[in-house]
Amino acid sequence: MKIIQIKNWGLNIPNQRPILISGPCSAETEEQVMLSCKGAATQGASILRAGIWKPRTRPNSFEGVGKIGLPWIKKAGEETKLPVAIEVANAKHVDLALKAGIDILWIGARTSVNPFTVQEIAEALRGVDIPIMIKNPVNPDLELWIGAIERFYKVGINKIAAIHRGFSVYKPKPYRNLPMWEIPIELRRRIPNLDIICDPSHICGKRSLLQDISQKALDLEFDGLMIESHIDPDHALSDAAQQLTPNDLGALLKSLIQRNPIGDNPNFLANLEALRLDIDNLDSEVIQLIVKRMEVVNEIGKYKKENGVTILQMNRWTEIFDNRVLKTIEAGLSKEFAHAFIQCIHNESIREQTEVMNSEYTVKKT
Ligand code: PEP
Ligand code: MN
Repeated sequence: MKIIQIKNWGLNIPNQRPILISGPCSAETEEQVMLSCKGAATQGASILRAGIWKPRTRPNSFEGVGKIGLPWIKKAGEETKLPVAIEVANAKHVDLALKAGIDILWIGARTSVNPFTVQEIAEALRGVDIPIMIKNPVNPDLELWIGAIERFYKVGINKIAAIHRGFSVYKPKPYRNLPMWEIPIELRRRIPNLDIICDPSHICGKRSLLQDISQKALDLEFDGLMIESHIDPDHALSDAAQQLTPNDLGALLKSLIQRNPIGDNPNFLANLEALRLDIDNLDSEVIQLIVKRMEVVNEIGKYKKENGVTILQMNRWTEIFDNRVLKTIEAGLSKEFAHAFIQCIHNESIREQTEVMNSEYTVKKT
C-alpha cells in the first residue's frame, strides 16, 4: 500500500514526534470548543479534535450536539491555523463534514468493527481527497482493523493513519480498554509506512494513567498521541474522568521522555548486535529444551494411553503450576509472566497428549 504519512498530508503539520492531536471529547458549546481548542493549540497540538456525533454505550446520555457544532470546530481551526478532525459514523456525517470543510475525518472504534458501515463511509468518500484516521475496532481483531484500512485505500484514499485506542475485553482493569500493544506492533510490521497514533485517553479512561501509557507509546515508536483536553474537564458532558485541562496537557507533555530511534552510531550498533546474538542463541536453547520436554510429554501420553488413563490429573497439574510459578517468581520474573508461561507450556503439553491419544498408536495387549 502506498500510504501517505501525516507529515505529507499538505496540512502544514510539522514533521515532529510525537504529533499531538488534542481537543475535547465532544463539542458542547461554541465557547467550550473555542477555549478548549485554543488551549490545546497553546500546548503544541498539531491537529484539533472534537466529537460532533457521539457513540454512547447507553441511550439518554449526551449524544453530541450534531451538525450545529461543525462551524464551531471549523472556526477554532481557523483561529489557531490548525487542521481539525471529527469522527464520522455514516455517509450523512461524511456529507455534512465535507460541506463544513472539515480537514480530517476519523472512524471510531464502534464503526471500524462493522464492515458494512465502513464500506458505506468509504463509498461516500470515493474520489474525495481527505485524510482518514482509522481507530482500531473495539474487539482485538487485527484483520478487521486492516480490513477497514483497505476499504478506504480501495476507494482511492491514501492519506491514512491508524489510531490505537485499546480493546474492549471482559476485565480491562485498571484500564478502560486494554492496550494489547502486540496488536498495533503487528500492524506496524504488516504495514510499515502507516503512521500509528496512540489514544491514551480512551485506553486509560482516567487521568492518573495517562502519563504512563503516553510514555509507553513513545517508547514503542508510535508516531503521535491523541489526548482529549477540555477547558473544564470535570463538567464535560462525555468522558469527564479522562480529559485534561490545557495546563495539565502541557505538564504531561513536558514529563514525557523522548528517546532516540536506533540511529547509526557504529559502536552502539556493534554492541547491540553482539547482545542480540546472545539472545538468538539463548532462544534456540530455550526452544530445544521445550522440544525435549515435549518428547517426554509424548512418552507419558503413550504410557497413559496404554493404561487407559486420562490426560489431565488435576492434583499433578496444581502441583506443577504452584511449584513452577513459585520457582519462576523466585528467579526474579513477574507473576504475570510466570502464570502465562506455565499455562502456555501446559496447553501445548495437553495438545501433544491429545494427539497421542487420538493417533493410530494401538493399545498394547497385555
Ligand atoms: C472519541 O475519540 O471520542 C471516541 C468516541 O473514541 P472511540 O471510538 O475510540 O471510543
Ligand atoms: Mn471520548
